[in-house]
Amino acid sequence: MISPGKARLEGRASINPMPSLHDPVRFLTGVGPEMARRLAKLEIRTIRDLLFHVPRAYRDRRLVTPIAFLKPGTEATVLGMLKTVRVERRFRGRRDVSARVWDETGDLRLVWFNQPFVEKALAVGESYYFSGPVEPFHDLEMHNPEFEPAQEGEDSRFPRVTPVYGLTQGVAQRWLRARIEDAVKSLPGILDPVPEPWRREHDLPSLREAMEQVHFPETPEAAEPARRRLALEELLRVQISLLYARARHRARRAARSLSPGAPASERFRAGLPFTLTRSQGEALEQIGRDLDHLEPMRRLLLGDVGSGKTVIALWAAVRAAGAGTQTAILAPTTILAEQHAATADRLFGGTGIPYALLTAATTAKERAHILRQLADGTIPLVIGTHALLEKDLAFHALGLVVVDEQHRFGVRQRVSLASKSGIEDAHLLVLTATPIPRSLAMALYGDLDLSILSERPPGRAPVTTELLRAGSVESLARVLLAEVEQGGSAFVVYPVVEESEETDLKSAVAMARELSRVPALHAAGVALVHGRLKVEERRQAIDRFRSGEARILVATTVVEVGLDIPDATLIVIEHPERFGLAQLHQLRGRVGRADRAGRCVLLVRRETSEAARKRLDIFKRVENGQELAEEDLKIRGPGELLGTSQHGFPEFRAVNPVADLDLIEGARTLAQDLLQREEMKGGEAKLKSWIEAHFAGADLYLQSG
Ligand code: ADP
Ligand code: MG
Repeated sequence: MISPGKARLEGRASINPMPSLHDPVRFLTGVGPEMARRLAKLEIRTIRDLLFHVPRAYRDRRLVTPIAFLKPGTEATVLGMLKTVRVERRFRGRRDVSARVWDETGDLRLVWFNQPFVEKALAVGESYYFSGPVEPFHDLEMHNPEFEPAQEGEDSRFPRVTPVYGLTQGVAQRWLRARIEDAVKSLPGILDPVPEPWRREHDLPSLREAMEQVHFPETPEAAEPARRRLALEELLRVQISLLYARARHRARRAARSLSPGAPASERFRAGLPFTLTRSQGEALEQIGRDLDHLEPMRRLLLGDVGSGKTVIALWAAVRAAGAGTQTAILAPTTILAEQHAATADRLFGGTGIPYALLTAATTAKERAHILRQLADGTIPLVIGTHALLEKDLAFHALGLVVVDEQHRFGVRQRVSLASKSGIEDAHLLVLTATPIPRSLAMALYGDLDLSILSERPPGRAPVTTELLRAGSVESLARVLLAEVEQGGSAFVVYPVVEESEETDLKSAVAMARELSRVPALHAAGVALVHGRLKVEERRQAIDRFRSGEARILVATTVVEVGLDIPDATLIVIEHPERFGLAQLHQLRGRVGRADRAGRCVLLVRRETSEAARKRLDIFKRVENGQELAEEDLKIRGPGELLGTSQHGFPEFRAVNPVADLDLIEGARTLAQDLLQREEMKGGEAKLKSWIEAHFAGADLYLQSG
């Protein structure tokens, strides 16, 4: 059923016929290769992505506040003429922009922290809309406002409610708005997969109306149902793919029952140097039951860093080996693969199984040897990175695949991995330490059964969190030295590898240099690790830290992902406002791993916004990753939480997991119903073409490779 879609906005004759939604954005007039590259930073690659780039906010031009009526602690829009603007040099070379704007009722100071380029975008004597938080200072001032020239007389031509989009370097608000306006004006016919009665019941517009209204609503209120309709579309897309993949997988594949391996895995368990926690025991039981079946297991093991997921994976590997099959454990980085191997060494003792380690660092000769042993079945366990996915790798009898995904892989990779030939018959266990709200887990992992490790192993010392005022290198050095003198070692984490022109964020490279200049720290040893180092250099730095030769490890967020250094007692995070709560939580999990109490110190700058401080206070207060994830969800607006690749959920731009809980649940049943209906109409072939017609591009999830 193709809806003709009456054009609600006047079409312009000059616009080319609309390419289809899954065409690249550069098919749009005004988007060249360079702009397409910049848009990709916002995860906008196709026209569909562009249309789903939901506004972060709306500026209601009917609601301009006269400057004299501004209230502290609110978000507001003022319309005024720019009186002055200048760059102000601050401490440590930071450059702020300060400006004054006035209207008939008064004048107001505007400040942009660390964004010197703003100065060039503003012209004294011109009128602008400025929107942002109003903060009490000596007087009121507005911090980091968004702005847009006010064009006199043009107002009638512009929608009164203007969308405000999330941007990136080199993509201006007005430019993006114009591209989206063009795309909306020339929308092609759009198939709406959601039956009308369902939409009516949930008060949602059609897909086509939603695409228009979310960007250019008549009132800000009209935008919300439109956003929800787009959210539903995203959720449906994922659910349809997951359910389809799962059904196909279950129907066509038979795994081996690993029950003959039960005695071996029980011996392994009995030989462990510790007792499993209650939730570890429950997870083992659930996994054991799955592994005994001929239906391939598809299970997610969710647990905070340090909750003991690896030992469970190894237990399953021993069971697989006992049943005469092989296991592949896939880690996101070489260092983590090596760490799993070290854990295996530690825990296997007399009850373990032989294993091989296969990473990018493996020599060609070793690799050839390992490949032979995997092919003839002499090695029951291989631990490695993506190197395990290469084509020439063949298993004698692969029984189990463990993916330690942390948060590096998205839904897409996971499903394509599960359906890779040779792997598809195996049982699948996915490990993740991403603290994820339950609602979101449902949306993202709808095809997996869930086991949760809800407690930390006993004997773990607690980690305390402190917020300290960021100061000089010397004051940081004092904090670190105090820790070293008490026998501890410390991570110091920075958001960037190197300094750059655009920001004056402190960087790992520069600070490692500065800290090494402090003689006492130099003596304690300062190592440096970041993503731009070669694997070998990275490993050396981490080994120096692990062995205690270097007591300080300066790092970027590479340390976030599962790195286990039991002796680390302190983690200092600079610019903590640059990290999401989930990310901070993972960082905090790096310490307090052994029996010694851990400390997490956040260095907070004076100019850190009120909102960011609130977030950090929540982080300080809440220790549980799950709870933190729920909190994070509540504070961030729609699109913000999930819109960036940083969070590892590029699938969703419009979904607001708090407000859309009903849709998240509804999408699953709706997807099931739709799939069933289509399949009843004409079997699998019909079903596949229906999916392609309505969810073009979703087949990405479905194809292998
Ligand atoms: P995760 O992968 O969930 O981050 P690991 O499996 O790496 O956690 O476990 C972290 C550390 O805790 C490892 O050194 C592991 O041997 C140890 N450990 C795991 N389970 C327990 C337990 N029940 N009691 C004590 N120590 C445990
Ligand atoms: Mg781990």
